[in-house]
Amino acid sequence: MNFADLGLSPDLLKAVSDAGYTEPTPIQAQAIPPVLMMKDIIGIAQTGTGKTASFVLPMIDVMASGRRRALMPRSLILAPTRELAAQVAENFEKYGKNHDLKLALLIGGVQMGDQVKALNEGVDVLIATPGRLMDLFERGKILLNGCELLVIDEADRMLDMGFIPDIEFICDKLPESRQTMLFSATMPPPIEKLAKKFLKNPKRIEVSRAATTNKDITAFKIPVQQRQKRETLRWLLRHDQVETAIIFANRKTTVRELNKSLQSHGFASGEIHGDMDQSSRIKELDRFKSGDINILVASDVAARGLDIKGVSHVFNFDTPWHPDDYVHRIGRTGRAGAKGRAFTLVAGDDAEAIANVEKLTKSEIPVFGKKDVRVELVEPDTKSKPKSEREESDQKSEPKKRSEKPKAKPEKRAKKADQAEKPVKSKASKPKTESTAEDAGEWNGPVPGFLDISAC
Ligand code: ADP
Ligand code: MG
Repeated sequence: MNFADLGLSPDLLKAVSDAGYTEPTPIQAQAIPPVLMMKDIIGIAQTGTGKTASFVLPMIDVMASGRRRALMPRSLILAPTRELAAQVAENFEKYGKNHDLKLALLIGGVQMGDQVKALNEGVDVLIATPGRLMDLFERGKILLNGCELLVIDEADRMLDMGFIPDIEFICDKLPESRQTMLFSATMPPPIEKLAKKFLKNPKRIEVSRAATTNKDITAFKIPVQQRQKRETLRWLLRHDQVETAIIFANRKTTVRELNKSLQSHGFASGEIHGDMDQSSRIKELDRFKSGDINILVASDVAARGLDIKGVSHVFNFDTPWHPDDYVHRIGRTGRAGAKGRAFTLVAGDDAEAIANVEKLTKSEIPVFGKKDVRVELVEPDTKSKPKSEREESDQKSEPKKRSEKPKAKPEKRAKKADQAEKPVKSKASKPKTESTAEDAGEWNGPVPGFLDISAC
């Protein structure tokens, strides 16, 4: 399947190939033709499968004809968070560069003056979070009756964030005859209800079962004591060939404290959570994207749907309370075909939550064991062990290393292990091509306790 087979205009195809996309993702291949035919759409596909372009691309062609009018946007895209809205806008800018389309972004935390000015001049595509849109609507700064196309993006997140009443209010203000599209990773009953109410004879496109996880993600769980979580996390950060990682925690206070603790252990980490204002969130995200820091500690709301490319690892410092969040969290890695690893630290408090996750994903997450370790585990103190045990461990001394790299010479080993103890400062400090097993090095220290737990 080719983008050219989907009925998009030549100008648009050029922008797509300039962006480096060669093949449409399954949701794009299935959604683009009916969107171009002005059909209503329900698009269900897991996070990271390219839902944004599946409506942005055809919308650019659909909106290409027609005239702008002051205060009356011609189309509206609703997104749950400011970051997600901003990402949709970036997509329009990237693919719409050969078209004359005016965009406006209505999000909280940004000066309203410029947004109102843009509306006064007329916009083709208005991208908004429900809260800010309601705000402007109630002040009479915007009219929605010229809006012939509506997209509700990340609908399940909207539900989590309590936006359904706002969306219903907004939908009621739009003209009856319009095209409506709804995209979501999952379809909980209230979203089905919303779709029934506001979509007309929609084409339902379901790419893979909702709430399944991506095959490009290798996920593990690690049973640990609550007080061992930080140490276990540090061990993994140092020894699992981590290039970039997002670490999720359920509480804002955990996010803050964990980040401080990681920094004090020399990691290049940052944080993002709901208590931060918009500009500091963006700043922190930029530091992460630019490679200034390679670890981002995040809460669910702040990280929702963020498109951060090339995240090699996701860590769940605690298991999310809502099982859907697990799917969203680990969806930050393994995006667009790249392989990723996801670890969930499971203490007693997480037992119920992890059971719910496994029920939702209909699969048991394997326990991380010695065979999954990416460094060579060398027993340093075999001499101090009783003979029988020593022999046993000698027999088992075949390294469980995944990489094809030849074993380092013994005299070099101590030095390497030394380096391994030091955290990898940032991905910028090392060219990407070198980040093989060498980054993690070998581990001459004691086998970490959590591996023993998981080995039983
Ligand atoms: P979703 O909304 O489904 O979570 P996004 O639209 O944010 O997913 O896309 C996820 C990632 O995949 C983005 O980095 C995007 O640039 C990339 N992507 C989207 N479509 C393609 C494609 N056809 N080929 C390669 N990468 C793509
Ligand atoms: Mg999306």
